[in-house]
Amino acid sequence: MELHLKGKTVLITAASLGIGRATAELFIKEGCKVAICSRNKDNLIKAAQEIKSLYSQEPLWVVCDIDKIADIENTVNIVTKNYGDIDILVNNCGGPIPGFFEDLSDNNWQDAFDQILMSAIRFTKLVLPGMKSKNWGRIINITSLSVKQPVDNLILSNSLRSAVTAWAKTISNQVGKYNITVNNVAPGYTLTARLYELAVNRAKLSGDSHEHVLASMANDVPMKRLARPDEVGSLVVYLASEQAGFITGSTIAVDGGVIRAMY
Ligand code: NAD
Repeated sequence: MELHLKGKTVLITAASLGIGRATAELFIKEGCKVAICSRNKDNLIKAAQEIKSLYSQEPLWVVCDIDKIADIENTVNIVTKNYGDIDILVNNCGGPIPGFFEDLSDNNWQDAFDQILMSAIRFTKLVLPGMKSKNWGRIINITSLSVKQPVDNLILSNSLRSAVTAWAKTISNQVGKYNITVNNVAPGYTLTARLYELAVNRAKLSGDSHEHVLASMANDVPMKRLARPDEVGSLVVYLASEQAGFITGSTIAVDGGVIRAMY
C-alpha cells in the first residue's frame, strides 16, 4: 500500500533501541526524513550506523535527555534546521521504574511525570506551530497496555500514561481543524531491552528465572508469544499515513489480545 509518506519529516523520541528504533527503520523504508533522539550517544551512533547499512540512509541523530526542557528545545531546533518543520512526531520515552505504591517516593512520581507526560507535552508544543502552518500533522504517543489494564507493580506507568491518554484526546479535539491527528499506540509485551529489564525485576521478586518470567508472559497472551518491536512500529507508521487521516483521539493496542476488555 502506498502510504504517501515520502519526504515527510519524522522525529521519534527515545529511539536508539526497541520500539522507537524499529519505528525509525520503518519510516526510513517509507522514504521519510527521519530523526531520532535518545540520551545515550553510543546507542544512537550504533542505531544510526546499523540503519544506514540496512537502508543506505542514515537517520539524523541528536543526543537528548527528554526529561530536560533545554535538550528538547535543542533537538527540535536541530531537526528543523536540517530537515524543515516536523510533520510527524512520535512521542516515545523510556519506561518508568517498576514498583508498588508504597515503594515509591515523591521524587519517583516527579521523574515519571517529566519522563512520560511532560516530555510529550513539551515536544508537541514546539512542533504544533509548524504543523498548523502546513495544515497537516501527525502526533503519535507510544503508551502501554497499562492504560486499559493496569499492571500491578507498574503504578507509575499506569497513572502517567493514562494522563497522556487524556491529554492526547483533549488536544485532538482542538487541532483536528488543522488536519492534525493525535493518537496513542499501546504496546503489549514486546521483546525489547525494557521487557527484559522488567522480567529480571519480576524474577528477583519471585525467585524465578527471568527466562521463565518471559515464557510465562508469552503464555498469558492469546497469541502465545511476545510482540516484535516492528509490529508496534507498523501501526505507528499506518497512523501517520494519509489513509489514517480520519483516525484521531484514539488509543489502539498492539497486544496479541492480552487486554481482556472488549473495547
Ligand atoms: P527500551 O528500553 O527498549 O528503549 C527505550 C529507549 O528510550 C532507549 O532508546 C533509551 O535510550 C531511551 N530513553 C530512556 N530514557 C530516556 C531519556 N530520559 N531521554 C531520552 N531517551 C531515553 O523500551 P521499549 O521496550 O522500546 O519501550 C518503549 C516504550 O513503550 C516505553 O515507554 C515502554 O515503557 C513502553 N512499553 C513497552 C512495552 C514492552 O513490552 N517493551 C510494553 C508496554 C509499554
